[in-house]
Amino acid sequence: MLGRLLGNVSQRVPSLLKRVSLIMKPKVIFVLGGPGAGKGTQCSKIVEAYSYTHLSAGDLLREERGRAGSEYGQLIDTYIKEGKIVPVEITISLLRKAMEETMTKDETKSCFLIDGFPRNEDNLQGWNRVMDGKADVKFVLFFDCSNEVCISRCLERGKSSGRTDDNRESLQKRIQTYLQSTRPIIEQYEKHGKVRTVDASRSVDEVFAEVKAILDKEA
Ligand code: ADP
Ligand code: AMP
Repeated sequence: MLGRLLGNVSQRVPSLLKRVSLIMKPKVIFVLGGPGAGKGTQCSKIVEAYSYTHLSAGDLLREERGRAGSEYGQLIDTYIKEGKIVPVEITISLLRKAMEETMTKDETKSCFLIDGFPRNEDNLQGWNRVMDGKADVKFVLFFDCSNEVCISRCLERGKSSGRTDDNRESLQKRIQTYLQSTRPIIEQYEKHGKVRTVDASRSVDEVFAEVKAILDKEA
């Protein structure tokens, strides 16, 4: 099933990205950090101030989970509750489709914040397999804060988010997944000088001031 999906993605991606890269190669910033570090909050502020499109892997997966007739709804639901990383073929196909739709609507919209991706080695290899040479990854914007801050923000968010994973049990698993699978990816990018780290434990405005300084210098 997943092999078939990846096959479809691989067949369709070259034509779109070939077309688009003739106009302008999509520019990508990966946005990473623990659950509740403030990635979504800061991405919204970046979108208001700069011409980036925000694509959240988690939001795209939740949307697919709720889509009537989705063949992956149940599988995504289980992975999210368990705080586990959904198979890369699904996540990449959703990201690719969202990028394609954005650029098809407006070809000048070629800058993307990809939030919550790549979350593990499988994500990274999947991206390299499907997107290598077709998008320009500028750097990883890393929102760094302690597990305690992450947990308390998610529990607070859980009072109104309706999310099935903003509870203590799921959060323990999400933090484990983050430490075991995502931190090593950030470290890999760090070795290549491609991480811009922001102290995410401060107020929303203080964090954004640092984000702005980075984007004004680099993006
Ligand atoms: P993520 O996308 O990393 O999971 P969110 O942006 O959804 O995190 O933020 C998680 C919760 O913490 C939200 O309820 C948000 O309003 C709150 N939050 C985000 N950034 C800050 C901050 N700098 N200080 C305090 N609370 C924050
Ligand atoms: P988030 O909204 O970023 O907190 O993500 C919520 C959940 O969605 C995660 O705990 C995972 O189960 C799933 N998810 C988010 N991003 C990814 C990804 N890049 N790859 C696979 N699963 C993901």
